[in-house]
Amino acid sequence: QSYKRIAEVEDKVKAFVTLDEEKARTYASQLDEALGTDRSFGTLFGMPIGVKDNIVTKNLRTTCSSKILENFDPIYDATVVQKLQQAEAVTIGKLNMDEFAMGSSTENSGLQVTRNPWNLDHVPGGSSGGSAAAVAAGEVPFSLGSDTGGSIRQPAAYCGVVGLKPTYGRVSRFGLVAFASSLDQIGPITRNVADNAYLLQSISGLDPMDSTSANVDVPDFSSKLEAGVKGLKIAVPKEYLAEGVDPEVKQSVLDALKVLEKEGAVWEEVSLPHSKYALATYYLISSSEASANLSRFDGVRYGYRTEDAENLIEMYKKTRAEGFGDEVKRRIMLGTFALSSGYYDAYYKKAQQVRTLIKQDFEKIFEDYDVIVGPTTPTPSFKIGENTKDPMTMYANDILTIPVNLAGVPGISVPCGFKDGLPLGLQIIGKHFDEVTVYRVASAYE
Ligand code: GLN
Repeated sequence: QSYKRIAEVEDKVKAFVTLDEEKARTYASQLDEALGTDRSFGTLFGMPIGVKDNIVTKNLRTTCSSKILENFDPIYDATVVQKLQQAEAVTIGKLNMDEFAMGSSTENSGLQVTRNPWNLDHVPGGSSGGSAAAVAAGEVPFSLGSDTGGSIRQPAAYCGVVGLKPTYGRVSRFGLVAFASSLDQIGPITRNVADNAYLLQSISGLDPMDSTSANVDVPDFSSKLEAGVKGLKIAVPKEYLAEGVDPEVKQSVLDALKVLEKEGAVWEEVSLPHSKYALATYYLISSSEASANLSRFDGVRYGYRTEDAENLIEMYKKTRAEGFGDEVKRRIMLGTFALSSGYYDAYYKKAQQVRTLIKQDFEKIFEDYDVIVGPTTPTPSFKIGENTKDPMTMYANDILTIPVNLAGVPGISVPCGFKDGLPLGLQIIGKHFDEVTVYRVASAYE
């Protein structure tokens, strides 16, 4: 059924970078043979799933939507991919993204432009734009994305689907091509909240291959989906409904709060005073980490190598100049600068200190409240090409999602209405490792 739908819509949406039809079909028919037998079935038995193209898949091309990895076939599977296999899901292909997950519209892909299924002239958001568009277009019921500064939640909001960034450490990053290692987290994108909780269940848990994966219990994420929100306390940061947020977006959040109030929750306005520094902090930290992480793409170890170089240094230079796109180069230069001696204390160290203040803002609120609620993005999806000339406007898109990554807490985006035919997203943010409550509130609203 997935392939039927893909045949119908994929030439318009262009969510997939690689489709693995033959292998997927072979595996699916093997699973079919197991039907009717009395063996036990995996939790995602036969479910088609698409995987963002920065998550490595053995013998299946993994490009990060970059020319530098255009022909890269990994020799191992990411832990999440192994877990999907254990659950007997069928990985049907790899999904388009902004190059190395840097961007908010998927327009930075070095391979193709993905379109928003609700309006083909608009962007699907990013960087997990392919993952959100494929679910929204009905090509797959489940996909995996990654979220460093909003890249699951923002495209989920723009495409009218459900996307969760788990607590940092909840899901193994082993086999996720690193962008900013202290922020990156893999998470599920689905059509509804129940599916999302179900998919998170199968990819979570401690992994010896990732020292930042957390040694905490994996609860039953679906256990409180029906519990309702009676008695829960919701905090609404005034910075999340301030100037810069579209009035209709603001109204959709206030309407959502009314629904939750009717269900028995109470809400109050609070403040995240340091959130105004989040964008600057994020771009310093993420670019610094990216400049270090991306040094491995040197033409020797992976993927693309320039054709004509006289010597080793020239080979490095040309390979990187030809292989990386503009945005990736911008981040590498910014990060290298911020980490260089003489500037380190003024930029990188200061950014780390502000990061702590942002984290403390959240901890303080969570002393008194169960969840934080606000919009996912200040506006609905914009037109393709509208922001490509202006990186600062593009960066401002993530102003409401980025603080969550800096704090390491979980956040979900669920659909909450439309403006001009384009979906809007409600963001629900929880305490560290309290995805259960996040899903509970999301499900009561949905
Ligand atoms: N848009 C943000 C960036 O460009 C977020 C990216 C992400 O979460 N991967 O860095």
